[in-house]
Amino acid sequence: MCDTKQNGWEKNVRKVIPYTPGEQPGNTKVIKLNTNENPYPPAPAVEEAMKNFPADILRLYPDPSVGKLTEALAEYYGLKKENVFVGVGSDDVLATAFLTFFNSKKPVFFPDITYSFYDVWAKLYQIPYECKPLDENFSIVKEDYLQENGGIIFPNPNAPTGVLQTVEFIEEIVKANQDVVVIIDEAYIDFGGESCLPLIHKYDNLLVVQTFSKSRSLAGLRIGFAMGNEKLISYLNDVKYSINSYTMNQPSIILGVESIKEDSYFKETIKKVVATRERSKEKLKELGFSFQDSYSNFIFATHKQRPAKELFEALKKKDIYVRYFNQERISDYLRITIGTDEEMDRLFEELKSILNQ
Ligand SMILES: *Cc1c(COP(=O)(O)O)cnc(C)c1O
Repeated sequence: MCDTKQNGWEKNVRKVIPYTPGEQPGNTKVIKLNTNENPYPPAPAVEEAMKNFPADILRLYPDPSVGKLTEALAEYYGLKKENVFVGVGSDDVLATAFLTFFNSKKPVFFPDITYSFYDVWAKLYQIPYECKPLDENFSIVKEDYLQENGGIIFPNPNAPTGVLQTVEFIEEIVKANQDVVVIIDEAYIDFGGESCLPLIHKYDNLLVVQTFSKSRSLAGLRIGFAMGNEKLISYLNDVKYSINSYTMNQPSIILGVESIKEDSYFKETIKKVVATRERSKEKLKELGFSFQDSYSNFIFATHKQRPAKELFEALKKKDIYVRYFNQERISDYLRITIGTDEEMDRLFEELKSILNQ
């Protein structure tokens, strides 16, 4: 804002510093490796259904309970529909979960290096929080989460590091914190990690959140979901129905169901991304990068000689976008989304020429 004078009413404004999403360039020439989207198209069944739905489905309000999609997800994961909550991307699900479950005077715990939306929601909802530093290998330090708190959240694998914790590790944290809700954000779990979902049958304080945005190639559709004990889900619904009953639009519900149905395509796509990721690890090592092992669809890498910011800018000039965070402890890292093999080859070629300059 250039106008520094405060109007009277501005003192009552809820002022927030918003989350900054990765850049979405209009230019289609750009190789986009900056927001962890899937490089492959959504399932053919999704495209087919998209061509076929009549505009008249938009005349009526959608089902506020998102019944069809909730049931499809419940069936897919072997749950009851009462164990599933669907929202407008996992960002919506997570924001609703922060508002619902983090309502203590004690601080909510999450890592110092993690999804940068968490502290934004905490501040927005005036939730006290404390960031627990990752160790020097970017691993979560379990003991930090065994102290008294008002709730716990972290992604597994963590973002932007790609580091995975085991289900046993998560169980110890959930088990030691049964007086608060523990949220595990599994945005990237489909790319090779083991989900802690089975633990929801054992612990009623565990909420597992996943998304269609990355592994299902549907970031533009905005579908996220949470799975947990019936009571947790019912509290989430109470808050949702207190803000907006019709969060999920009709086309998203229909297309989401189609995506779930076409399971072989989903698995095939993931296999391709994982194969490219493993190949990319080798290539990046050859180019002088180092990184912790990634179980997600990105690699968080630092270069031995060249500053990350310089590489980020040089790549951008070549129309290759990766993500750079100008933030303490990680300002010398690039988060590189796994694209197609062709896109990654272009990246390696450009990196090679930049590094030789
Ligand atoms: C991408 C991402 C999300 C949000 O994804 P949606 O598109 O809103 O479903 C949530 N958590 C993490 C860790 C993410 O990387």
